[in-house]
Amino acid sequence: MRTPIIAGNWKMHKNVGEAVEMVRELDELVADSAVEVVICAPFTSLSALSALGLKKVKLGAQNMYYADQGAFTGEISASMLEDVGCEYVILGHSERREIFKEEDELINKKVLKALEVGLKPILCVGETLEQRKAGETEEIVVSQTTLGLKDVSAEQIEQVVVAYEPIWAIGTGETSNGEDANQVIASIREALAKLFGAELAGKVRIQYGGSVKPGNIKEFMDQPEIDGALVGGASLNVKDFVGIIKY
Ligand code: PEP
Repeated sequence: MRTPIIAGNWKMHKNVGEAVEMVRELDELVADSAVEVVICAPFTSLSALSALGLKKVKLGAQNMYYADQGAFTGEISASMLEDVGCEYVILGHSERREIFKEEDELINKKVLKALEVGLKPILCVGETLEQRKAGETEEIVVSQTTLGLKDVSAEQIEQVVVAYEPIWAIGTGETSNGEDANQVIASIREALAKLFGAELAGKVRIQYGGSVKPGNIKEFMDQPEIDGALVGGASLNVKDFVGIIKY
């Protein structure tokens, strides 16, 4: 039985005061939820959120660099994230891939470093609209999954969460439908089974992400292969995010 995981990706939103106010309230409202709840906040808010001593909500970051330390201006290491109380880190988000030109090889180095330090990566994979129209969806997500998880060990794979996020559904109001997302996620699980065996693949949580809202979460969570959601816009508002968590 895989514990569902609902994670909010705040992207470049909220100053420290706003972050603290929302997460304090969220932590109370979802305290008795059976779902694992994660907020991936901007780096600047993580220390303050960690200092709240949260009961339920776990913290994640939205990116990191793979080196331990050194002359990497503007970057943040895995151990720095661990030090401020992060348990998760989003890696390979489509905005990192598209805007910052991150490729599978770099994302893989980050995944390996996160795991080495004890952070749980949320590895994002997903196709563009052009790739979908060309019938390449499964090929793309399987390739991104396989390359992103290269050299991850059987002992480590259970710590990884994969997020299937069709790029055309992110922030657009367009969503995949539950059955379609379930089928793509099943192909990701098959790829995991080839790499790690069926038993371990059956333990890895795979989320859906892309314009998830309180009104459509159930359609996704009713699918057997979907183990949660990565939520952008609707995670910025406590009412909507609680509505999603309490689907
Ligand atoms: C995301 O950026 O990970 C995402 C799913 O965004 P949204 O929910 O706004 O589509």
